[in-house]
Amino acid sequence: MKDSIQKIGVFTSGGDAPGMNAALRAVVRAGIYYKKEVFGIMRGYEGMIDGDIVKLGARSVGNILQRGGTILKSARSMEFKTPEGRKKAYDNLRKEKIDALIAIGGDGTFTGLHKFYEEFKIPSICIPGTIDNDIAGTDYTIGYDTATNTCVEAIDRIRDTALSHSRLFFIEVMGRNSGYIALHSGIAGGAGSIIIPEEDTTFEQLYEKLVAGEVTSKKSNLVVVAEGSKIGGVTELARKVAERTSYFDIKVTILGHLQRGGAPSYFDRVLASKMGVAAVEGVLEGKNDAMVGIRDNKIVFNSFDTIMTQHHEIDAEALRIAKILTI
Ligand code: ATP
Repeated sequence: MKDSIQKIGVFTSGGDAPGMNAALRAVVRAGIYYKKEVFGIMRGYEGMIDGDIVKLGARSVGNILQRGGTILKSARSMEFKTPEGRKKAYDNLRKEKIDALIAIGGDGTFTGLHKFYEEFKIPSICIPGTIDNDIAGTDYTIGYDTATNTCVEAIDRIRDTALSHSRLFFIEVMGRNSGYIALHSGIAGGAGSIIIPEEDTTFEQLYEKLVAGEVTSKKSNLVVVAEGSKIGGVTELARKVAERTSYFDIKVTILGHLQRGGAPSYFDRVLASKMGVAAVEGVLEGKNDAMVGIRDNKIVFNSFDTIMTQHHEIDAEALRIAKILTI
């Protein structure tokens, strides 16, 4: 273990995700377990630039494990993208004698931390916290499981009304350019079609499938669409279908930010706890400019370069079975 590291700074940044608090708790408690001091940096890089930094104790992260959002708050900072902004942030860290950083966030957060490491050489580890599951080097990101469960619950509810009125629903779920949430919630929710950016489904193919469903008496139908859909969003798809036929009674639901909130699932709490402890142990063992991940249920570390040059491939087996099950 590195004696050169005595004070660890931790922050949450980018989009919030359920389980960020659980990761924070794990970082703080692991740091204290290894006899280090841990400081919370408020509002991500914004707070680093403003010097909004608070010392955290084991008890100050009590009762947050089960809470969604992030008690440290999150922000998107334009100033951190400038060398002047990063210098200000560095000066504030020096003032507090913080000598290692652990960031909980998505790929933008990692990009910022990588630049910061290159400039100031503060040992840094990232923990992937984003509902999108769009980061290479880890099978799961913190928040993804909870958000997907939220989608499945919503899809189940929409199915009740779709069945009662024989309606066709287009349901948009989050994920940015990743189809993970759509694919897995679509399978779990029994969607008739799933539209994700990783697949080249055309509008014609979708339309034909909807009509084929009609022929086999499937009048109520759910189409789960990832927000990154390359053939148009839910509103556009619904409009295009309505232009072709009046057979379907079409409704559109955009699940939106409700996917971000809520208590983290058991899976996200355990994942966040494992990653938080691993991040502290990793940085104290000399790991640097890297991201903690989970592959085949084992903790791994990947360099920033590996993560940023690779794409988190879509779950091919899920894609295959979705084709079979959505006939
Ligand atoms: P999510 O995937 O949930 O949106 P994220 O971490 O990707 O999370 P971003 O808003 O992309 O969210 O990034 C968070 C912050 O990281 C930005 O507001 C900015 O302060 C910093 N950041 C992003 N890209 C850079 C960059 N190229 N240089 C310096 N800082 C950056």
